Amino acid sequence: MITSLLLSTLLSTLLSAPAGATASSPSPKNNKLIILDAGHGGHDRGASQDGVFESEIALKITKLVGQKLEDAGHRVLYTRTKDEWLSLEKRAHIANRARGDLFVSIHLNSSEDPRAKGKEFYFQNQVPVDEEALFLANRENAGSENQADSEHSSHVAKHEKASEADNDNSSATGADRTQLSGLRQAEAARTPEITYEDPRVRRDLKNILEDLDRSARVRASSELAVALFEEWKIADPAVRSSSRAIRQAPFFLVSHVAMPSVLVEVGFLSHKREGEKLTQAPYQERLARAISEGIRKNMAENSGKKSDDRAALP
Ligand SMILES: [Zn+2]
Repeated sequence: MITSLLLSTLLSTLLSAPAGATASSPSPKNNKLIILDAGHGGHDRGASQDGVFESEIALKITKLVGQKLEDAGHRVLYTRTKDEWLSLEKRAHIANRARGDLFVSIHLNSSEDPRAKGKEFYFQNQVPVDEEALFLANRENAGSENQADSEHSSHVAKHEKASEADNDNSSATGADRTQLSGLRQAEAARTPEITYEDPRVRRDLKNILEDLDRSARVRASSELAVALFEEWKIADPAVRSSSRAIRQAPFFLVSHVAMPSVLVEVGFLSHKREGEKLTQAPYQERLARAISEGIRKNMAENSGKKSDDRAALP
C-alpha cells in the first residue's frame, strides 16, 4: 500500500500534466454519440395494462426520439430496435463499447395506486433515497443476468470502502497539513520524476481517477435529467415546477454505463387517462419531441465546456 502522500503527489502531477489525453484529445463535440435504450423487450414485457405492454410503447417512443435526433444530424445508437430481450449487462456493454457520449433509457411506469401519474427522470445514485425508489430500482433492475441486489451491494461496498479511505486522508489537522506540505516538498525534491511502473501505484491511482470520473459523470447525469425535465415543463405547462420528477436511484444501467445517463419513466400505464394517452401516436410524438429537445439542449449547453469528462487512465 503506498502512502497517501505519494498518492497525492502522483495525482497532482498527473492532473497538472499539460499533455494529458483528457484535455487535448479531439472530442467530436458536434458529433456526439447518443445511446438510446428502449426498456425491456422479448419475454420481459415490463409494466402492462389492459393488454398494453411497456416494452412495446417504450420501443416506439425510443425510435421516435432517435429519428428526431438523426434528422437534426446527430449520431444515434439503439440498444435494441425490435422486440427482443437483452440483459442489462448487454445493454451497458453496447453503450460502453461504442463509447457513447450520452445514454437515455426509456421506460413506462406502473403503480398499484391508480392516482399515480407523471414523469420521472432518474440518474445514478448508490443508495436509494426512499423505499419507493428502491422498489422501482428493483423492478427496472430485473433484467440483470445476475442478482441485481447482490450486484448493487458489492458495488456500494466497494465505493464505501473507497470513501472511507478518502476520509482518512482528509482528516489531517492544520499542524499536520503544514507538516505534510513540508514533507511533500521534500518528497518532491527527492523524487523529481515519478514513474507509474509500480503496479500498486498504478492500481491506487486508477481507483482515485475512477472515483473522480464517477463524480463528474453523476454531475453531468443530473444536468441531463434537469434538461429533460425542463423541456417537459415547456411541453406540458400543467407540470408543476415543484414536482419531484428528478430523482436518484440505483438502476443498474445508469450506474454501469461510462457516460452521463438518465432513465426516463415517461408516464404511468396504470393511470386511466395517462395510460390511454401513452398508447396514442400524437402523445408519443409529443413525448419524443420533448426528450430529443432536452437531449439537444443539454448537448448544446455542454459544447462550450471543457472537453470529455472521462479521465484518461495511465
Ligand atoms: Zn421499465
